[in-house]
Amino acid sequence: MTSFYDRLQTYCEENDVTLKWNYADEKLRPFYKIEGTCTTDGCENEFYVPLKRLLTGDSAFCEECTNEHRKCELLELNGNGRKSTTCDDVESTDSEVK
Ligand SMILES: [Zn+2]
Repeated sequence: MTSFYDRLQTYCEENDVTLKWNYADEKLRPFYKIEGTCTTDGCENEFYVPLKRLLTGDSAFCEECTNEHRKCELLELNGNGRKSTTCDDVESTDSEVK
């Protein structure tokens, strides 16, 4: 079975995530809080989220960006066809990166 550390490494490579610490010697568990730099383009805040959340496919965003993304998701769920400027900003930033 792949260790949590291996999975974390793979996640970081695939998502271009910069971690704050080297976790090689840590006993990683699903709720171990991982620290690193927010993956939003131009954001220099740090994220601090449980490993489990990263490995379930969530992106590594700081608290501020996570809240922005959550707002977008809610808007989409409401299905009212209206998106905030923030959502559009986030989407255009994403497509530029890819
Ligand atoms: Zn951020």
